[in-house]
Amino acid sequence: MLLLGRGRDGPDHLSSGHVAAVGGTITVDYRRSMSSTKPTADRPPDPQIASIRDQAAGQMDDAVSLRRTLHEWPEIGNELPITRETVAGALDDLPLAITLHETTSGIAALLEGDAPGPTMLLRGDMDALELHEDTGLEFSSRVDEAMHACGHDTHTAMLVGAARVLAERRGEIAGRVLFMFQPGEEGHHGARFMLDEGLLDVPPMSDGSESTVESAFALHITSALPAGWIGTRGGPVMASADRVQIRITGKGGHASEPFRAVDPIPVACEIVTALQAMVTRSIDVFDPSVVTIGRIVAGTTNNVIPETAEIDGTIRAVSERTRAKVHDGIKRVAENIAAAHGCDGDVEIIYGYPVTTNDDQFAEWTLDLADEVAGAPHVVRLPHPVMGAEDFSYVLNELPGSMSFLGGTPLDRDLAKAAPNHSNRVYFDEGAMETGISLYAAAALRRLAPS
Ligand SMILES: [Zn+2]
Ligand SMILES: [Zn+2]
Repeated sequence: MLLLGRGRDGPDHLSSGHVAAVGGTITVDYRRSMSSTKPTADRPPDPQIASIRDQAAGQMDDAVSLRRTLHEWPEIGNELPITRETVAGALDDLPLAITLHETTSGIAALLEGDAPGPTMLLRGDMDALELHEDTGLEFSSRVDEAMHACGHDTHTAMLVGAARVLAERRGEIAGRVLFMFQPGEEGHHGARFMLDEGLLDVPPMSDGSESTVESAFALHITSALPAGWIGTRGGPVMASADRVQIRITGKGGHASEPFRAVDPIPVACEIVTALQAMVTRSIDVFDPSVVTIGRIVAGTTNNVIPETAEIDGTIRAVSERTRAKVHDGIKRVAENIAAAHGCDGDVEIIYGYPVTTNDDQFAEWTLDLADEVAGAPHVVRLPHPVMGAEDFSYVLNELPGSMSFLGGTPLDRDLAKAAPNHSNRVYFDEGAMETGISLYAAAALRRLAPS
């Protein structure tokens, strides 16, 4: 997932009062931040929510320890053997029916309540990113060019914490909770592999009653919100992300005699400019799209006209309608501008993640629940989607549900200066995990409350 739109990181990214530099590395006392991420008392807390928060607080030592272990040993992609072993070990003593997926390192774990009812899916992703960590934290990555810079280590630890909370409250659950620990969120389609392997084909409950998966819920930590805050919205919450590659083929020749060649370079430049005009002139401003060309490759030296030029870019949209319209527009513009100059234009669209769309009612329900868990002043109805992408979109294309953001920037830090997700210096306040564990657990308990 990507940032909500702020400035760049500053040098003061670790200036918070609860971190201290000791012998060159930075130690963190998460307990000092937990109290500041507690909900404000805008109304008397519901007794069930208050007890869930107490239980979550009791899980924090284990959750922080698991998070730091995962953080030290990040793995990338769909094969995460160390991570899977660590997570399976952390779930080992719980009354769960665990399925280890075969096509990826995914883990599906079912917790059965004491009464029959539907199944609700809770998702946590487990994979890291390919970059070097520069946080200076005492539990920094020990793996070259790998870092949990998107906070998936916190998601996994929070979901394990929620599993522990819920395992102690099976008497309050009518139905089941399906914990989805997925690999490969960062562009590897891990969720789709798990769905293709039958994630949602759950067996009946042990009393023989049917219990289909009826809803799904996920959290994503973000440095764009203060620690312990929750943000979400109904409808599209994150964008689709596709790749476009355009190859323009002309005719090579001598740079002094372009009239004897067909030069693809000015054609490529014209296409890049025309794509921006296509987006702003033909795409509904209230159903927007972003087309960014991040790479152009052509030529070898100054006095040769090359035969080809290549354009490589990303396409973002927040509706499938606009997504399809932009794909068509890119093909039309690129092929016809190429043809106008006597070149061939070959356009390839490589499909990435679809739009992540929250069910409207489920998102409203989530916002109300977040008011209770985090305190209404800490809950944000996002005014617009985030243009990053998520493969939880595949799950939300199958089931009604919601994805929410959990703030991770310490409260005494300037949000505008906090290093964003995916930064080599991103820093998440572990105190926020208490709110995350509580929200995961409360979502399942409310959704699966015995009638
Ligand atoms: Zn990410
Ligand atoms: Zn992410």
